[in-house]
Amino acid sequence: MVDIAKIRNDFPILKRQINNKPLVYFDNAATSQKPKVVIDAIVDYYENYNANIHRGVHTLSQEATDKYEAARQKIQHHFNAANPEEIIFTSGTTEAINLVATSFTTLLQSGDELIISALEHHSNIVPWQMLCERTGAVLKVIPMKHDGSLDLAEYDRFLNNKTKLVMVNHVSNALGTINPIKRIIDTAHAHGAAVLIDGAQASMHIKTNVQALDVDFYTVSAHKMCGPTGVGMLYGKAEWLRKLPPYKGGGEMIAEVRFEKTTYADIPHKFEAGTPNIVGGIAFGTAIDYLNQIGMSKIANYESELLDYATKALEKLDGIEIYGKTVEKTAVVSFNFQGLHPYDVGTIIDKLGIAVRTGHHCAQPIMDFYKIPGTIRASFAFYNTKTEIDLMITALKRAKEMLS
Ligand SMILES: *Cc1c(COP(=O)(O)O)cnc(C)c1O
Repeated sequence: MVDIAKIRNDFPILKRQINNKPLVYFDNAATSQKPKVVIDAIVDYYENYNANIHRGVHTLSQEATDKYEAARQKIQHHFNAANPEEIIFTSGTTEAINLVATSFTTLLQSGDELIISALEHHSNIVPWQMLCERTGAVLKVIPMKHDGSLDLAEYDRFLNNKTKLVMVNHVSNALGTINPIKRIIDTAHAHGAAVLIDGAQASMHIKTNVQALDVDFYTVSAHKMCGPTGVGMLYGKAEWLRKLPPYKGGGEMIAEVRFEKTTYADIPHKFEAGTPNIVGGIAFGTAIDYLNQIGMSKIANYESELLDYATKALEKLDGIEIYGKTVEKTAVVSFNFQGLHPYDVGTIIDKLGIAVRTGHHCAQPIMDFYKIPGTIRASFAFYNTKTEIDLMITALKRAKEMLS
């Protein structure tokens, strides 16, 4: 059991009022809220040891470097990577995917094949389209089924000796579907293809073990797991990271710079040019400590209770259509009411203090599949309650009355 009163007390923002109503924050799939310990870690850096890292011999620089590298190790242990140098700090999932897609340019030939899925976020679609434009590689898309799962039989038919890379999300941000990534990774490897898993939406809900998965690349954004914005991680197997060329040039990523020839630093620094988001990296480590203190399996169990409760309550509402009905789901419910635009419903319930997301959720191909402009998406976190779900249901009933 989670001690929900104690947990809610950790998040200052949950005390806010919106239009004189208590805030009900159900937009966790877009970004999570931050516990006080994470906010304090940010203030502590700027108040007490702000300095650039890896450069100075002075005390502050050494303190900042130690804390930043300690955060890298926390991330390494959380995801069970074999070595800290397999953890590259990025600005988030989007940059992590762009890094891999850019660095792969020189390793691909015209006619090579890449596979993504119909469930991807735009940030796991567009960088691969750009890579295909640069190289002449061909992008194939695993189709989705009506329940929000992937058509794996079609995936198996796509795989052949031209397949170089497979990129799939761990969890769909638009529908909550948990994809069978171990199965996807194993079949790709049987054909000699490498696999990148976009873990942005899984990270606050599922404990991931990159070695057990045998995944080649795994990406997360700190802000979706109680950390700050502007920082994230690319996990890559050391052998892959050593093989890929650097993605950005600048300070910190070099061994020696001469006008005739520059040599690069070893990983992870080879991929970390310039002054990084130092405070972000440190606070990312604090967020991981916080989640582990509560316990990832407790979080998952409690959230799945919330999902069940919300799904049952929503199903009772007239004219509702829920999208994404796989058994394996995180706590995301995407829905619409017959004849009502999702944006209008979202605007009215915001007046009642309920924060949900409306629109295509950066996953337009999913909306095209269902032939809808968008959905209303309620996404829950471990600091939400059944009482808040009741408030959302009441607000939705009000919105329906006003709009019909
Ligand atoms: C949020 C999200 C992204 C993009 O993350 P950024 O933090 O915006 O870089 C990519 N994929 C999925 C599944 C997401 O939920």
